Amino acid sequence: HRGQDLNELGESAEIDSAKLEQMTQALESQLLEKPKDKPLKKAVRKLRKDLLPRLLNYEQYQNLLGDRNSFIKTDPDATFMRMKEDHMRNGQLKPGYNVQIGTENQFILVYSLHQRPTDTRCLQPHMEKARQILGRLPRAVIADAGYGSEENYAYLEKEEIQAVVKYGSYHKEKSKAWKENVGKIENWTYNKAEDTWTCPAGQTLHFRKESKETLGSGYEIRKRHYRSQSCEGCPLKEQCTKAEGNREVVVSLERLRYQSQAREILRSEEG
Ligand code: SF4
Repeated sequence: HRGQDLNELGESAEIDSAKLEQMTQALESQLLEKPKDKPLKKAVRKLRKDLLPRLLNYEQYQNLLGDRNSFIKTDPDATFMRMKEDHMRNGQLKPGYNVQIGTENQFILVYSLHQRPTDTRCLQPHMEKARQILGRLPRAVIADAGYGSEENYAYLEKEEIQAVVKYGSYHKEKSKAWKENVGKIENWTYNKAEDTWTCPAGQTLHFRKESKETLGSGYEIRKRHYRSQSCEGCPLKEQCTKAEGNREVVVSLERLRYQSQAREILRSEEG
């Protein structure tokens, strides 16, 4: 294949070290037949000494990474993370692990160690570890807003665990600014029977379509799109949206349902 580069072979995207090794060996046997072929000799050398070892390295890195986007060369199990305790105050990432601890009455029942820096996606594996160790899942889970994702609420509901779990906007939505924000769908009225929303100007927004977002974990968020018939001349328009034309809202009804459940529990006496 001399004279052609890998792109021309149409395999650049798929080539792995096994294939490259094969090709190198083929070239090496050609070289045995024509030991005076200098360009061939050069190519073989480049493959053996440089390209192949590099490809092997990359493959090993990819393996070590799994679904992370970094690892530490001196401790490949560790991942670069932004630490809350940052003594040098320079925001530098440091090698670390994310430790999750489940307690009851201040006793540690379960801990689990994770390579993911964010807490959100540690909840489910942590609960599964709890199930393994305790033989069952707890009846209720108390956790902060870092755990309040739609996927986690769905998991807790499926496992019949009461979710005493905040979500990102839990405290913000108590503020005056939030409550007076015309554009927030949380301040609008939903009509379940008609599947419509009524905005603060009294306009009805009708269902238009549904779209799906699939998360890395495979969880599907169902997003419903609603659109107003006419926002023309609405005195609230400027506060409502920066977009031109009619207002379109995209919302996960499941997320809203989980949030209102969580809100109710958290604001109850026991919560
Ligand atoms: S801009 Fe449209 S959606 Fe927003 S408040 Fe006015 S009528 Fe309602």
